[in-house]
Amino acid sequence: MLAVPAHAADSLETVYGMPVYWPQSVLTWAVVGEGIDPQLVQFAAATWQAARCAQLRLRPARAGEVADIVVRLAWGKWAHAEDEAAWTAHKADQDTGEARQANIVLNPRWWRASQVDQRALLVHEFGHALGLAHTIDRGTVMFGGLGQRTTLSDDDRAGVCAVFAKARQPAAPRPLQRAWLAALAPLAWLPLRAGRPRPASPGSGARRR
Ligand SMILES: [Zn+2]
Repeated sequence: MLAVPAHAADSLETVYGMPVYWPQSVLTWAVVGEGIDPQLVQFAAATWQAARCAQLRLRPARAGEVADIVVRLAWGKWAHAEDEAAWTAHKADQDTGEARQANIVLNPRWWRASQVDQRALLVHEFGHALGLAHTIDRGTVMFGGLGQRTTLSDDDRAGVCAVFAKARQPAAPRPLQRAWLAALAPLAWLPLRAGRPRPASPGSGARRR
């Protein structure tokens, strides 16, 4: 019998079918508005950061810093199906799938419901924010139904490590070439701009402008 593939490795896709991925493995998060204990979000972040092979660093955004992952309660009327406890969406480049920001929006009705394990819900949504899709395996955090699991399964770990392997790939040749050109440009100007070095006149102190 063939082994069942790691379902969590299936990442989210843009509307053009490109897998969503983060270009960097250090990501910041922030809670916006009232009603969510940041400790719970910290727990979710730490849970995913524990997947060592992803080499992820998830830290709270500093004051004035735009967070990569934003967590908040929905304002006004819930825009999705009533049985959806949360909704995570990305701002991502439609052509390349490169993520710019993820928004985790929680349905207040479910967030405050006694049958919801808030930590499990946040760990699951964080998985989406990092780029993971649903699994059909009940034993994973990324299982599609409402779950209680707060620790990563091997499948969740394999999924997040596959997504973040892309963040560690070397830069594409084109930006690298541009960087070289930018580095060479000052050298090309140097002979035109530099005059003959002047002999230091005695008494003149060292001054820079
Ligand atoms: Zn989900």
